[in-house]
Amino acid sequence: MPRKPRLRRRPLGTTRPHRPAQLICQCDQCGGLVDRRYGTFGDSWCPHCDAVGSVIAQEGQIPMPALYGDWVRKERGRRTDAQAAQPSATTGFPTPASLPASTEGSAMKTAKTHTGTYSCLECMTEFDLVAETHLKCDACGGPLLQGTLEELSDEEPDDEHA
Ligand SMILES: [Zn+2]
Ligand SMILES: [Zn+2]
Repeated sequence: MPRKPRLRRRPLGTTRPHRPAQLICQCDQCGGLVDRRYGTFGDSWCPHCDAVGSVIAQEGQIPMPALYGDWVRKERGRRTDAQAAQPSATTGFPTPASLPASTEGSAMKTAKTHTGTYSCLECMTEFDLVAETHLKCDACGGPLLQGTLEELSDEEPDDEHA
């Protein structure tokens, strides 16, 4: 038996949830969009250009799209101007003067250190050094040589350092 098509059509207007169109406010002086909080018409203020009574409103669309376009272009130009002004201040960030300081700092980190037994032949003192950077005798300020006093005194210093 043939099915009877269900009638689903309803009169237009009742199916649609009635949503009030959004009221869009715009300043007719500068073209910028303005929040509804700033009021409309005579009792309004534009936060962009400080004009009073310049805000117009329209439901669902921008009242003056062309004017808004002008405003957007103006804002974009202002923003790029601000961006263009900034790099000049930040490009000088890695100054050439700061480079030698940083290389010096890295050189300090990789500085050779001396660990082990070192001896001063000036005052015949042995030192146990741990990560010492300056091979200098604490007692007399003389140079420290690697090895015990016994080892160093057995060898001829002239042969070791030609
Ligand atoms: Zn304005
Ligand atoms: Zn010494």
